[in-house]
Amino acid sequence: MTQAHPATHLIEVVCPLCGSGFTKEKPRLSQILSLPETVRHRVRKCGDCGFIFLGPYLSREELESLYSGTYFAGKSSELSEGSGLDYEIECAQVRLSKFERTLDDLVALHPQAKSVLDVGAATGEFLDLARKKGLATAGIELSQWASDRAAEKYGFKFSNEPFETFSPGEQYDLIHASHVLEHFPHPNRAASKIAELLSPGGLVYVEVPFQFNAAESLAGRAGVWTRPFSTFSLHHPSFFTPTTLRKLFDKHGLSAKSIKCFNWDRHGDAPTRRSKKLARSFLKLIGQGQIIEGVFEHA
Ligand SMILES: [Zn+2]
Repeated sequence: MTQAHPATHLIEVVCPLCGSGFTKEKPRLSQILSLPETVRHRVRKCGDCGFIFLGPYLSREELESLYSGTYFAGKSSELSEGSGLDYEIECAQVRLSKFERTLDDLVALHPQAKSVLDVGAATGEFLDLARKKGLATAGIELSQWASDRAAEKYGFKFSNEPFETFSPGEQYDLIHASHVLEHFPHPNRAASKIAELLSPGGLVYVEVPFQFNAAESLAGRAGVWTRPFSTFSLHHPSFFTPTTLRKLFDKHGLSAKSIKCFNWDRHGDAPTRRSKKLARSFLKLIGQGQIIEGVFEHA
């Protein structure tokens, strides 16, 4: 095993949201992710702002290996908790109506909006709908495979560069970032880029998983549930709560218009097992969910 340089080690466990050095390993949460000894990352929580993250941060090399090749084939099973549908079929069957609702909501909140940027534009379904509604569209997508599909199907030309260095030389009235932010080990860089790209009065729509929600934590604590380990356990180095999501955007001058919690049902995933149904009812009852949705305004 290689020994991390003490100074590097210290830097890499500083809270990536607020910069506090007062962060603590949370063995129970690492256990929920079934992180094996061979993996150097552990779940940590900031004692100052409450942000939960993987520390040490994922390196560029680690990120690249996680995202090579088969990423979307796995993403769909994560979204639908193992339905086996591939991402595009899932889009066609389930996600289009969700995208449609999101677009209608955003346009109702910002009727003057003329343009939209989709961060993590995938195979182009969201932007195809946006274009049909008369919005000028732009997309950024790291996966070459997904952007090739979007070009083939809809004629879109997405940027393939990392979001942090994306500099199109223009601003957008709407930004859509659905299941994107949790993939960034440095969420401040993503939020600051969103603020830079959003026109004054513009809105950003964010959806992230609510990992370690009350039902997950309770089940993990009771030892009745863990997530089997795979490389997908590391795909989400940032674990948001409604509070830390608000804090992140506040820091960058984006104020919350709404923050709501939902269960995976909204993406067409109806649970069959009683334990899952119970978990979702419990979350609903206490005002939590498996997903957090936020709309933030650039003042
Ligand atoms: Zn913090």
